[in-house]
Amino acid sequence: MSQWYQHNHSLFREERKRLAEACELMMLSVVAPGFPINSAVLTNTECAIAHGTYSIQAKDGRGEIEYGITLWTPPNYPKLPPVLFGNDPKLPTENIDRHIPFNGQACLAVNSEIELHWPPGSNLVDFIEKLVAPFLAWQAYYDAFGYPPSWGGRSHGNKGIFEFYTDILGMSGDKIIVGFMKLLERKKPPKGHEICPCGSGRKLRDCHQNLLNETRRILNPKKVRMDLAIIDGNSGPKITRKKRIPPFRHK
Ligand SMILES: [Zn+2]
Repeated sequence: MSQWYQHNHSLFREERKRLAEACELMMLSVVAPGFPINSAVLTNTECAIAHGTYSIQAKDGRGEIEYGITLWTPPNYPKLPPVLFGNDPKLPTENIDRHIPFNGQACLAVNSEIELHWPPGSNLVDFIEKLVAPFLAWQAYYDAFGYPPSWGGRSHGNKGIFEFYTDILGMSGDKIIVGFMKLLERKKPPKGHEICPCGSGRKLRDCHQNLLNETRRILNPKKVRMDLAIIDGNSGPKITRKKRIPPFRHK
């Protein structure tokens, strides 16, 4: 599969320059197959990764904590976002409590949520500032106190997905949320005569059509579909083999 930087040299140059300016200890480079992403996984194709050290201000006043990180970019970047890997003994590679479920791959947010923070047109530095920095601030708190902070960090798996959609829709209940997600994943807006998933029994036009349309404006149907697939357990196989990167799943 061809890689994004092979047919978009100017984007690669821009991304590398921006990254060097914003994070002086990080670098975007093209690496060969077999390059170590961290102690658990290697690349299996040539690809572009941003790697190095990122320092974050610890919230307890202990000054800065530095974390070694690697951002793997998918072949069709920036259509799909980068994937963050911890590359640091402080970030354990198999720890669900740290939101690092396997191979050091960080679970930053649900698919739709990532797109909210990193909309089309965003770059690597945006990704670091909007998604990586809060994740590392959360890790720094954990490292300082030995337990997770009360802020940030959703539950694991499906529960985290339901939490996100509950925040967005202001409604709860798994069945209701899935009902709204099924309308949100559609390419075309649902019709007013369809029944509202909120459980009122009323037609959308007499119920939550405005909320639905507002939400459709900010969420990408494709990403909602990815979140739904995870809930349905159809998100594909997890990485089980060590020492091999991809096939990646954006979770
Ligand atoms: Zn309703």
